[in-house]
Amino acid sequence: MLTDKTKKEYYQALLNKDKTYEGLFFVGVRTTGVFCRPTCSARKPKIENCEFFESVQEALLASYRPCKRCNPLSHPNVVSKLVQTLVEAVENNPEKHWKDGDFRHLSIDTSTARRQFKKRFGMTFIAYARARRMGLAMKQIRGGEAVIEAQLSSGYESGSGFRDAFSRIMGSPPSKSATQEVLKAAWIDTPLGSMLAIANDDALYLLEFVDRRGLEKEIERLRKKTKLPIIPGKTNPIEQIEKELKDYFSGKSPEFTTPLFLIGSPFQKRVWEELQKIPRGETRSYAEIAKAIEKPSAFRAVALANGANQFAIVIPCHRVINSNGELGGYGGGIKRKEWLLKHERQ
Ligand SMILES: [Zn+2]
Repeated sequence: MLTDKTKKEYYQALLNKDKTYEGLFFVGVRTTGVFCRPTCSARKPKIENCEFFESVQEALLASYRPCKRCNPLSHPNVVSKLVQTLVEAVENNPEKHWKDGDFRHLSIDTSTARRQFKKRFGMTFIAYARARRMGLAMKQIRGGEAVIEAQLSSGYESGSGFRDAFSRIMGSPPSKSATQEVLKAAWIDTPLGSMLAIANDDALYLLEFVDRRGLEKEIERLRKKTKLPIIPGKTNPIEQIEKELKDYFSGKSPEFTTPLFLIGSPFQKRVWEELQKIPRGETRSYAEIAKAIEKPSAFRAVALANGANQFAIVIPCHRVINSNGELGGYGGGIKRKEWLLKHERQ
């Protein structure tokens, strides 16, 4: 999402340890895997090793962990002991699937913790822990094929970070000798944020923004339905969608022709088909879609099917809005919906 100009500006601010940039950006350092505040006292990385983020969540999802020296989570004010305890708890056990009940074991009052955390980071503690956990799995995906090959050749020794973090989300990796079919997952950067693409050699199975709520559940559903392991890597449909997204965002070509493998009920598939008929630059209401598929009273079910869409942007569920003209919800966040609709009107 950041322009080269902004990146240069941020890098300069980083070199100058410019306090006025505190809270505006965080920098992920590829060589160490940590993310920092602009004023961190650690030796400054080369620009090619920097990745800039405007929120903690983005940095976590991109697989970075908080720097121990500058403690990027403590900005702008000193954090309370409570918030600090929570962050430390996650760092000691980042693969853990944290639930509300776990706070009680830490002798933490859940509602106070929730309020303080949200106020500090703009997200709940559970969302923080999810982003951190997801980020660990994403690290493998961003690393691509090389990572999985190294892991396969080492035979997935137990206790390896790979097994713990990755397989908890992506499922158990295939055994070394197996020649079974797999799905491959790749990370795609777009001007609207990073996306996760999952595909086999024939079709795309999933395309979502990595910070989408419920992404883990979606992946779990995909694994259960297909019974296929997911490993990092690219296939032809992934390369195709990568190119088509680039052309879509640059305005060069808005067409998507990557084959999609739809997993859903016949009703859901009808809705998704109908969504693909909405011309670019236009919108429809849930009621209009319900009418179009000859189920005029089923607009609630239409809204649910719309939300269950597994192909962000490509199946344009963002073109469905409320009957009163309000934007309505969007799994990838309302800002993105707004952006996409505006982009498509141009
Ligand atoms: Zn730092």
